[in-house]
Amino acid sequence: MNLAPNRLGQPAASAEAILEALFHPTGVDGVYGRSGAYEAVVEGLATLINRARDPRAEIVRFPPVVSRALIEKSGYLKSFPHLLGCVCALGGGDAAIGAAVERFETGGPWTDGLEASDLVLAPAACYPVYPLAARRGPIPRDGLIFDVASDCFRREPSRDLDRLQSFRMREFVFIGAPEAATDFRDTWKARAGDFAASLGLSSRIDPASDPFFGRGGAMVGRFQVEQALKFELMVPVRSAETPTACMSFNCHRDHFGQTWGLTSDDGATAHTACVAFGIDRLAAALFAAHGVDSDRWPTSVRAALNL
Ligand code: 5GP
Ligand code: ZN
Repeated sequence: MNLAPNRLGQPAASAEAILEALFHPTGVDGVYGRSGAYEAVVEGLATLINRARDPRAEIVRFPPVVSRALIEKSGYLKSFPHLLGCVCALGGGDAAIGAAVERFETGGPWTDGLEASDLVLAPAACYPVYPLAARRGPIPRDGLIFDVASDCFRREPSRDLDRLQSFRMREFVFIGAPEAATDFRDTWKARAGDFAASLGLSSRIDPASDPFFGRGGAMVGRFQVEQALKFELMVPVRSAETPTACMSFNCHRDHFGQTWGLTSDDGATAHTACVAFGIDRLAAALFAAHGVDSDRWPTSVRAALNL
């Protein structure tokens, strides 16, 4: 199943067949219950990624919610306000909450009693790690590496198997000197094709830009491409012609360093980079490539995933 680079394989299973066999609808597009067979693949991916982890990496697992102030300070509202989900709860005290419930019970609107809380849904796994590192003081000479993960949310409802509103992300994050940050990103970019091939997935690396908001956003996106800050591992999920970004390789330059005051011993602002594994997209790509019945996958792929 290992194909020549740049020749992407057509999926063996359609997105519809994968959704039908492995996902449980919940009534909301892009939000699914997942079957045991699917989760076994997700667990296999986690173990495989553990093995690829730098021994220096510190493991941190984050909940699916993040401090709203942290995400505001990170600049997320400037870049992706359209994707952010905010946690709201009924407010105004017992009387106001009781009135909202009464409105609901008589068929009226209750959601106008909601107030924004101090939480948002995590839009990516790495945001909370920068302030965490900054609180510890200067970044050591060799930099810091973290292994982070969380359930992530992005408000982009879709019926496409590869565009979920709620999905899992694992990331390796580097914080340190500028050249070391680009090296970290480039090393992972170079390794990713072999990682995919070890799972019998055909892939290619493309330059990419984030879906920045608004008219100015297109400019920021072009800048990101011109400066070669973001790349993605493209793997067929729905088709070989329109492959799906299953991993991303990002350099943020000094953005998080400036935001959180991440500095080295000599006072220089640290640069950061991250490599993100889109766990649900990788799992979907595996079912697309090898079929909906994981018992019948190639032996080498089953072995790699401990199936
Ligand atoms: P990024 O922060 O680069 O946009 O996302 C990192 C990775 O998360 C992507 O490469 C992709 O694998 C995964 N991801 C992003 N958006 C979605 C989505 O809508 N659905 C799923 N399943 N994964 C996503
Ligand atoms: Zn990241």
